[in-house]
Amino acid sequence: MRLHYDLHIHSCLSPCSDDDMTPNNIVNMALLKELDLIAISDHNTVGNVAAVMAVGAEAGLLVVPAMELCTSEEIHLLCLFPDLAAGLAVEAVLRTEDPFIRNRPDVFGAQLLMDAQDNPVGTEERMLIAASGLDVDSALKLISGAGGVVVPAHVDRDAYSMTATLGVIPAVYGFRTVEISRHAEADAVRREHPETGGLSFLVNSDAHHLWDISEPVHAFSLQERSIPAVFQAIREGKGFCIDLPPCGTMLGNAGS
Ligand SMILES: [Zn+2]
Ligand SMILES: [Zn+2]
Repeated sequence: MRLHYDLHIHSCLSPCSDDDMTPNNIVNMALLKELDLIAISDHNTVGNVAAVMAVGAEAGLLVVPAMELCTSEEIHLLCLFPDLAAGLAVEAVLRTEDPFIRNRPDVFGAQLLMDAQDNPVGTEERMLIAASGLDVDSALKLISGAGGVVVPAHVDRDAYSMTATLGVIPAVYGFRTVEISRHAEADAVRREHPETGGLSFLVNSDAHHLWDISEPVHAFSLQERSIPAVFQAIREGKGFCIDLPPCGTMLGNAGS
């Protein structure tokens, strides 16, 4: 089955996103956009994932627990978890490892924790957009140990990406899938980073505003709509639909 996705959406817990990125607003917008699965990926936290999963379960939308982890080298990693418990375990490690920097809502924006009825239930005190205390090797080990899967985020960008910081996607990490921004041109990314030639591209919105949540353009082709099926596609770099507009280009590797 063809499953339209957007696996990189920020809720109102991320200081840089709009306050109306609430659980119900996100799920309802995803349904309006006719998406089949989404992930909530706030910076260095899964604090609003439970609420969005609850709303999604009610509405029949698959919500993958996620986090956009910022490593100590300032590389953004899209981390997807098999369940909320795994995400919470990773966040617990981050809270121990991270240098505590207090957020300044007046400067960086509010960090709102929500329940499934869109009620604010608190705020996060630590500054979520700061780099975590984990370097990329430690982060990869931590996430895979929790049963999660990591996708280097927005590798077409020249800031906060693995390509910007390390210059390349090191083969030693064994990624089969990397993320590119929705406005990136896949062929241009492959030209600039030839090491992505055999990799599949995940195209997400990185939405900080409701209207930026993806249109039903990019999809997986999977046997079933489940988190294990999504993880298998990402780990193997297979199962990506390859010729959907507006890209009209090869997003999956050969044979996928
Ligand atoms: Zn990012
Ligand atoms: Zn992001």
